[in-house]
Amino acid sequence: MLNLILFGPPGAGKGTQSEQLIYAYNLKHISTGDLLRAERKAGTELGIKANEYIAKGELVPDEVVVGMVRNFMKEHSSSKGFIFDGFPRTTPQAEALDNLLSEFGAKIDIVLGLEVIEDELVKRLLLRGETSGRADDQSEETIRNRFKEYQTKTLPLMDYYTKKNSYVGVNGMGEIDHIQSSLREEINKVL
Ligand code: ADP
Repeated sequence: MLNLILFGPPGAGKGTQSEQLIYAYNLKHISTGDLLRAERKAGTELGIKANEYIAKGELVPDEVVVGMVRNFMKEHSSSKGFIFDGFPRTTPQAEALDNLLSEFGAKIDIVLGLEVIEDELVKRLLLRGETSGRADDQSEETIRNRFKEYQTKTLPLMDYYTKKNSYVGVNGMGEIDHIQSSLREEINKVL
């Protein structure tokens, strides 16, 4: 199996880059943001509850997202590997993911951190908000709150994975294709 995490702040380009990587390496894409939005669209209790957090730019409770990821992985257990996008976002989520993968006899092979400066991120998110219909991309206040959550709860994971020797930072500014090449270069080193 090949399991990788695309790491980085909201708007860093994790979804965009994942789309190309899943084809190149025949992996399954797990985006907890997409899964939560699908739950909301389907009108499930989980989706409605989660949306209260999402609308404020807060993180959804760990047990909710971990349960979703667990189900998804079980449903796709024959996959050659996974790209985790927007997950894990907290230390308990990272620990839960390590445990889940060990059930598959697997581990995280590489964590690719997309590095983008904050001014560029706000610009990208507000632009995405014009077309995506995502309410959490349309309010600068919600966007700022997401960054705050990222700084306090998610950024410590950089250290978590650096200690495991799996974190690699990649410049996330510039042409999409160029960033894709940089990511593949790093993935190919661990294949
Ligand atoms: P972005 O990376 O642009 O912030 P996502 O689609 O990954 O967008 O996430 C949207 C929202 O969904 C987050 O702001 C958060 O409220 C919730 N969310 C997504 N993934 C997680 C997670 N792993 N843990 C907690 N909340 C999450």
